[in-house]
Amino acid sequence: LERDALFRKKHNIHVSGSNIPSPLQSFTELKLRHNCKSYLLRNLGELGFKELTPIQRQAIPVLLSGRECFACAPTGSGKTFAFVCPILMKLERASKDGIRAVILCPTHELAAQTTRECKKLVKGKKFYIKLMTKQLTKSADFSQQPCDILISTPYRVHYAVRKRKLDLSKVEYLVLDEADKLFELGLVKQVDAVVKACSNPSILRSLFSATLPDTVEELARTIMHDAVRIIIGRKNS
Ligand code: ADP
Ligand code: MG
Repeated sequence: LERDALFRKKHNIHVSGSNIPSPLQSFTELKLRHNCKSYLLRNLGELGFKELTPIQRQAIPVLLSGRECFACAPTGSGKTFAFVCPILMKLERASKDGIRAVILCPTHELAAQTTRECKKLVKGKKFYIKLMTKQLTKSADFSQQPCDILISTPYRVHYAVRKRKLDLSKVEYLVLDEADKLFELGLVKQVDAVVKACSNPSILRSLFSATLPDTVEELARTIMHDAVRIIIGRKNS
């Protein structure tokens, strides 16, 4: 569509792939067209989010449409909300049926930061969001506790899976955040193991990164199917 192309140009959004959903114009469109719940819009208001950032405009409708994506956007450009928003909208409410979403971050500090951001977004709404800690990897009853979204380094999830403390077979959403750093830190083996452990055939995977070196792009292409590629600005700036 001509209109989409112009809008993307205006916001410096570059996409490749087939049948890519239109970028979002506004939070109002998120509400009216995608049925975003009022608790989420209210929390965004409280956080001072007035306009969507470019990565949010494109990645949110792609993920909501059930397409996988890998995306490159600068640090500080709002990537967290770009992947958490579709997860919250799709999961709808808390459940006790096992872990439904996993977000992998390169370091425990980044995982803790992402957990804090998620918790702000779900304020006033019941959702089980858990940061994987050292104690949790060892706790015998981890899988008995409700958890909608698990946020962790690949190392800790992989460890817990190996020790059979964690069942990822029902995971519907898997996010690899800061994928360039996952590579730099040599965590690809653990990431691969977690990707394999998330064995639900209808899983939706996504990858977010500040830069997109060939290694990361290759990983994205090997683990995803018919993924949409989204670049904000330039690829490795
Ligand atoms: P990135 O992961 O791309 O480095 P973050 O997701 O950590 O960026 O977001 C950086 C900051 O911008 C956070 O404090 C976040 O709350 C804020 N932010 C995200 N989206 C918006 C928005 N649409 N409007 C205003 N602030 C936003
Ligand atoms: Mg980030």
